[in-house]
Parts: sequence; structure tokens; C-alpha cells
Amino acid sequence: MRRDGPDDAGYPARSAPGCGALGELETKLVDCRACPRLVAWREQVAVVKRSSFRDWEYWARPVPGFGPADAPLALIGLAPAAHGGNRTGRIFTGDPSGEVLYAALYEVGLASQPTATHRGDGLALHGVRITVPVHCAPPDNRPSVGERDTCRPWLARELELLRPGLRVVVALGGFAWQALLPVLADAGWSLPRPRPKFGHGAQVLLTDARSGRDLYLLGCYHPSQRNVSTHTLTVPMLHTVLRHAAQLAGVTGPGPRGTP
Ligand code: SF4
Repeated sequence: MRRDGPDDAGYPARSAPGCGALGELETKLVDCRACPRLVAWREQVAVVKRSSFRDWEYWARPVPGFGPADAPLALIGLAPAAHGGNRTGRIFTGDPSGEVLYAALYEVGLASQPTATHRGDGLALHGVRITVPVHCAPPDNRPSVGERDTCRPWLARELELLRPGLRVVVALGGFAWQALLPVLADAGWSLPRPRPKFGHGAQVLLTDARSGRDLYLLGCYHPSQRNVSTHTLTVPMLHTVLRHAAQLAGVTGPGPRGTP
């Protein structure tokens, strides 16, 4: 292991803060190998594959955020799915969570189509960017606290680059909420004390003391297969949060479906 290369734990903290644009951030991110357990898993999954995807050449690298660089609304998930984003190279693409999420985004006018199957499928997002606190697929969808913290500089920089136009951040699940709070606090957003708790429908107004600007933090259950199959999160619940978030963010035109 080189101590100054992409396979040492300091790579994200060294590389992310200096990125001046999302494209540069993505270029550096996809080389990251800072978490040995996750690197081993993402690559092992790509070799073993799922039988239904045996003809695929898996992405098997960190999966960047997706959506316009000037989005006023950001959705924060958990991590790529082993046979979803880790296969296709685009977040929430090619897995059951993404089927639910992109269909909902289309329904509320934030996506150009209801399906997400692969990069190059024509999907475009309108006014919303989707990213994750952990950019590599973890075993059992459970990154460790250390892995989350190692990956934090990528999220911190991505949100900082979005900041000029950012109005609303939606945490999809408690993991995203917990990952976001320190990132937002470090970025100068005032957080209430005690720290707000995650819940579906939670809404917190944050203020930047320097600029006086506001940012809404919303909570929404993660559209995981489990949450959806147990009706913890229903499609109408997801629509309600996304519509509200788009309204708060001032995303114009989320009216007719598929017209971003
Ligand atoms: S999870 Fe994040 S920090 Fe860890 S290897 Fe992947 S991109 Fe790098």
C-alpha cells in the first residue's frame, strides 16, 4: 500500500477538499480504495455475480452521485447495492430500491422516465441530485462507522459544491441522517440542540450564520425492498415527501410527468 495513493485511508481527506467541480470529484472518487473490506467485497461480487447478471461486466468501483450540478434538492441514500449500483455504475440503478425511487421521482416530475436500468438508458434528473454517504457496496448493506467516516470527505465536498443553489436535503433513512449531521455542522449550518432525530416526515430548518441562508433537512424512510414490502414506506408516502421537498426547493415544473 502506498501511503499517498488511492488505497490508503487518507485518500478521501486528501483528495476531496481540493476538487473544484463535481466532474473532478467523480474522477478522483472512482479511483478510491481507502476501505479494504469494501474494496474486497465490491470486487468479489463482480467476479461471483448473480446468475441473472452473469453477462454483465460489473462496475465494481465507487459509485458517484447522479444528477445536475446545480440541483437545489439533494437526496442522500445509504450505499450502492452489490448487484445494483455496483453492477451498473449509477446510484440506485438496477435494483429494487431504485425501481421504487425513480418511479416516484418520475411521478412527481423530477425524472425524465420511471425506470433506471443502466448508464446510458436516457434517464435525466430535474433539479435533484442523488448521492450516498458510502460510495462502495458494503456486505449486507451495512457499512461500518469507520467506513462511513472514511468516506465522509466525498459527501462533504459534493454538498459544498452543490451549496450555492442547494435548498433542501432529504435523508433517505436513519443512516443517511446520522451521516449528514456532522457534515452539515462542519459546513457551518446551525443545528438545533439536542440534535434532531431522524423520522419519516421530519423537517429541520438550518441556517448558515455567515450568509443567513436557509437549508431544509427532511427525513424519509429509505425505499429499501424491506421497507416497501413491509409497508413501512408506501409509494404515496414517498410521493408526499418528494413533492414537499421539490416545493421547498423551488424546483419548477414538477407538474406533468416526464417533462423535466
Ligand atoms: S467507501 Fe468511500 S472511502 Fe471507502 S473505498 Fe469506497 S469510495 Fe473510498
